[in-house]
Amino acid sequence: MSNTPDSILPILLVEDDPSIGEFLQAALAREPRYELHWEKSLKGAYKAWEKQITKAGGPFALILLDLGLPDGDGQELILRLRNGGKEQTLIMVLSARGSEIDKVRALDSGADDYLTKPFTIGELLARLRAHFRRRPLDLPEATPMTIGSLELDDLGHTVRKDGVSIALTPKEYQLLRLFVLNQGRILSYQSILRAIWGEHSDEQAHYVRLYVKRLREKIEDDPGVPQYLITEKGIGYRLRDPHIV
Ligand code: CA
Repeated sequence: MSNTPDSILPILLVEDDPSIGEFLQAALAREPRYELHWEKSLKGAYKAWEKQITKAGGPFALILLDLGLPDGDGQELILRLRNGGKEQTLIMVLSARGSEIDKVRALDSGADDYLTKPFTIGELLARLRAHFRRRPLDLPEATPMTIGSLELDDLGHTVRKDGVSIALTPKEYQLLRLFVLNQGRILSYQSILRAIWGEHSDEQAHYVRLYVKRLREKIEDDPGVPQYLITEKGIGYRLRDPHIV
């Protein structure tokens, strides 16, 4: 047991429906770990985002994001944050749009989770716990992680191989980071899927193979004969340091 209390996790809620906003505000006020800031528009969200960084010295830990907002689509915020490399902030979409296409679009552009309205507070809190368990937010102090000639920098969200930068998409970066944090260990398809695409991602099972293929094309000298990302037949994959095999 640690003596230091869990750090407070600042959460930004972007929601124009007052009944949902008030409900979430009341529910999260009972959770001492979370500090909720509520904005009702995209414009307000962007302002709050900048203010949080200047005022608190770091970004929000998580954004609860409605898609249908009075001044635009929440999807715009996902793209803007992810394209700006703001990868460490978790984004959970809360939307009445329950179609597969809306979910895939949000998740593909970098949302970490998607909860369809109406949802129960119990489920929302359980998902928050799961996300924070999986990704402890100690990133500002992160130092570059290395394996072989690969170097990951969480602050700049860059990957270098032998000192040369490799461009990765946010999801590719997340996946590589997961492997680096678990280097030498076999990760099953299922555990990778859950860690990167969330707990309810069974329909995205083929993503794992697809993204491993893409990563290999970027980090391996010869993607056909991988030296880093090794296939463990029928189980999953393992990242190893080719220099110490
Ligand atoms: Ca709305």
